[in-house]
Amino acid sequence: MVITVTKLVTPNIPSPFYTEEHEAFRTQVRRFVERECTPNIEAWETALELPRELHRKAAEAGLLGIGFPEAYGGIEVPDPFYMVIAVEELARTSSGGLIASLLSHGIGSPPVMHMGTHEQKEKFLRPVLAGEKIAALAITEPGGGSDVANLRTRAVREGDHYVVNGSKTFITSGMRADYLTVAVRTGEPGLGGVSLLVIEAGTPGFTRSPLEKMGWWCSDTATLYFEDARVPVANRIGPENAGFMAIMMNFNNERIMLAAQAWASAQVCYDECLAYARDRQTFGKPLIMRQVIRHKLVDMKMQIDAVKAQLDLLCWRISKKQLPIAEVCLLKNLATSTLERVAGEAVQIFGGAGYLRGAKVERIFRETKVLSIGGGASEIMKDLASKQLGY
Ligand SMILES: Cc1cc2nc3c(=O)[nH]c(=O)nc-3n(C[C@H](O)[C@H](O)[C@H](O)COP(=O)(O)OP(=O)(O)OC[C@H]3O[C@@H](n4cnc5c(N)ncnc54)[C@H](O)[C@@H]3O)c2cc1C
Repeated sequence: MVITVTKLVTPNIPSPFYTEEHEAFRTQVRRFVERECTPNIEAWETALELPRELHRKAAEAGLLGIGFPEAYGGIEVPDPFYMVIAVEELARTSSGGLIASLLSHGIGSPPVMHMGTHEQKEKFLRPVLAGEKIAALAITEPGGGSDVANLRTRAVREGDHYVVNGSKTFITSGMRADYLTVAVRTGEPGLGGVSLLVIEAGTPGFTRSPLEKMGWWCSDTATLYFEDARVPVANRIGPENAGFMAIMMNFNNERIMLAAQAWASAQVCYDECLAYARDRQTFGKPLIMRQVIRHKLVDMKMQIDAVKAQLDLLCWRISKKQLPIAEVCLLKNLATSTLERVAGEAVQIFGGAGYLRGAKVERIFRETKVLSIGGGASEIMKDLASKQLGY
């Protein structure tokens, strides 16, 4: 299916960026979230993982294929707004882990899409987009995640195989993934010696163990171990030693989506607080009657709307084939720092009820930090932005 832009929707939706097609897609995703996710999210959070069946249902709902080629079961779209909508609707569950894990192919599969051969796409992309297999991305190592160019997991070529030794950590969907796009060192030190291999579950010498986390509970996060794991050369994505650029390109998209997630989670906090403040009575009056509470709410809205304006603008620029790397870094920092402030205020407005398990604002508050760290920590975003801006 190819979705094309036709008519802008302006009367009801005060944005020049969202079309009727976007809104139809939103309705589709909202139905999926209300039917499949909302009733089950607490059970998945307790189970510390999503059921595999959910991926198949998400594929049927048109969620997993967005942005991938039709030829391999994807749904081609003209802009990133579709993914922003998907993230926004999933965020209504207040579970960032749902977004991270259900959509882990969003970071694991693009290198296959951009640099893979037809055979690799048939094997590693088509079943993932159909929700039959799970994909993940493994860059970060126990020795460090920010300094990607110095990763140490080594792959040494022996005939038709690479022999892989090393370890990866903090890998989203790492326990369940069938296909892991793994960054390995095949050449010289530094960024010129990095390649990408798809390492399959069940490869002898590849084991994994789960990690317990502050938030994102329903997202299975793992440390991966490679001990003389033999990976076919046919699983290398792109030319040898050309993996670093693919990793960097991947990061841009991931950062936009993490910013979208931060914005959407902040919006959920605001919506929850507004409803709560109207309902909750203290000293004989609803909280909303207190100026200090109203000011907290308008401060939230002011910051949330500013993030959304920049998010939409950058999505539009990306749809026009621009690559605003510095602005994407700064957006990620703006969105995640906004979420940290908004989620903190949200728990405060809820009082003790905001500290209890089961409150949406409680979960979101626990999940704020991962967005400021994952996909490039705030400090690294500032460094990269300043370099891009020529400082
Ligand atoms: C829940 C979760 C899920 C994740 N999922 C994935 C995944 O699917 N795949 C994957 O590959 N990775 C994943 N990550 C890893 C994530 O991308 C890294 O945690 C992140 O890149 C930071 O790396 P690090 O944790 O090793 O921190 P470090 O690199 O050790 O940095 C520690 C701190 O020092 C700061 N710092 C580092 N260098 C500098 C410097 N030069 N100047 C100033 N400050 C600096 C950092 O900003 C950070 O605040 C995940 C992480 C989490 C927590």
